[in-house]
Amino acid sequence: MATTAHASNVETNRTKAADLRVQLTGQTVQHFINGAHVDSLGGATFDTMSPADNAVLCQVAAGQAADIDRAAQAAKAAFPAWRDMPAKKRQQLLHRVADLIEANADEIALTEVIDTGQTIRFMTSAAARAAENFRFFADRIEGAQDGLSLPSPEHINYTLRQPIGPVGVITPWNTPFMLSTWKIAPALAAGCTVVHKPAEWSPLTAARLVEIMHEAGIPAGVVNTVHGIGEVAGKALTEHPDIKAIAFVGESATGSAIMQQGAATLKRVHFELGGKNPTVVFADADLERALDATIFMIYSLNGERCTSGSRLLVERSIHDEFVEKLAARVAKIKVGDPLDPATDIGPLIHPRHIEKVMRYVQVGQDEGATLATGGRRLNGDLANGNYFAATLFTNASRHMRIACEEVFGPFLTVIPFDSEAEALEIANEVRYGLAGYLWTNNVARAHRFAQALDVGMVWVNSQNVRHLPTPFGGMKASGIGRDGGDYSFDFYMETKNIAVALGDHRIPRMGV
Ligand code: NAD
Repeated sequence: MATTAHASNVETNRTKAADLRVQLTGQTVQHFINGAHVDSLGGATFDTMSPADNAVLCQVAAGQAADIDRAAQAAKAAFPAWRDMPAKKRQQLLHRVADLIEANADEIALTEVIDTGQTIRFMTSAAARAAENFRFFADRIEGAQDGLSLPSPEHINYTLRQPIGPVGVITPWNTPFMLSTWKIAPALAAGCTVVHKPAEWSPLTAARLVEIMHEAGIPAGVVNTVHGIGEVAGKALTEHPDIKAIAFVGESATGSAIMQQGAATLKRVHFELGGKNPTVVFADADLERALDATIFMIYSLNGERCTSGSRLLVERSIHDEFVEKLAARVAKIKVGDPLDPATDIGPLIHPRHIEKVMRYVQVGQDEGATLATGGRRLNGDLANGNYFAATLFTNASRHMRIACEEVFGPFLTVIPFDSEAEALEIANEVRYGLAGYLWTNNVARAHRFAQALDVGMVWVNSQNVRHLPTPFGGMKASGIGRDGGDYSFDFYMETKNIAVALGDHRIPRMGV
């Protein structure tokens, strides 16, 4: 019975996805500027492909500096009215966006699957999470401007926050819909207007998102989406004088480039960058739960996840047993059609990306680590897509490249350790510092180790579970700034101090 229901579920998804692909064929996804779909001024386009078979899905407008300028002008013109719109009204509009995201959740999930290769298993919740981002920040609009009262003997000082102005949002390809809303929702709630440049490898759901915002009644010019290549459209956005800040999610090297590009116009930047996040398992942990979480945190979302636990540090006394169980489970992870709800891992985003991941397999073997399972492309029916088996390297040592560099795929490197001090050194010695996962039942060690980890976020005895008021972001090469709750408003708003004299305090006299 369950099998029949599953089969019909798969069939339904495939039919709907095929219909979507037919609708897309021959189309050009346009920019959305000042409330209207528009082509690039120069007419240029690029192809977007499905990772499932590397066939072209459709064309996408390739934005140039002139298109970014048009969008930035629209965002600038729309800013005063959006900033001054009563909070209640802005709140209603953002809740309406959330309603429409929920109403379109199926289509969004399927589009994300065909455009990114992420599996339907995980994408069904992507729209719900995106809607939650809008609701969460909508509910905080009324308090966004609140500040402090800082009285001094002769003045009352008070602070307030005001939106910084038009901002640029630049997003990566891995979970584009959710990540776009994670940036755009707080920007709009703060009262900023937005120019969004989505990733060129997965632009489709961003194009849908801006349409949904328009349908919800967000006024023309408040959100503008310009597609295009990072080094062209993205670069122009970071250099535009009317764009006051750049919220960027992507690779660390791109973050450096953006900082340079934005220097001339003194851009405020917020960076969520790469990671090589440690999962540290001590012998005293609940090993069954640690195993479940370890596997989930590296092999879900195709391993294309900034917070993936891509380095596993295991205490030597339990190492062999833990790794044996791990390898057996990883070998059974199902790689295949992302439209099948039973599939764990879908195709990786792009032929260039699977080549990169494959290169790291070679690197791991050359370095002398043991390839316990995976490490290969899947062929047969899957040969046309970017399907890559769940991969596990064991017996790695801490300085190997596969232990230090971000692979950004379903690729886990296991490193044994002998003491808490050694585990901490290994965990902290990479250039990244986004997240850390810690497994121990020793309370004192849990706190001690968590506090000593050089990362922005630590989960103790847990996989990554987000709570939106908490700060999200990384240290070192993993980022600058924090998102979530009030932290997001700090980025999208200026804090102003106003000092008002309470009476006739002394004013030094000159030229009398
Ligand atoms: P990327 O840096 O190549 O691209 C990200 C975006 O930047 C794209 O839209 C791209 O077009 C644009 N871009 C590229 N060059 C640019 C330039 N010179 N100026 C302006 N924009 C430019 O990253 P990616 O390959 O799309 O995404 C994967 C990376 O993103 C991984 O490193 C991953 O860890 C990181 N990531 C981080 C987080 C986080 O929250 N820390 C979340 C998701 C992904």
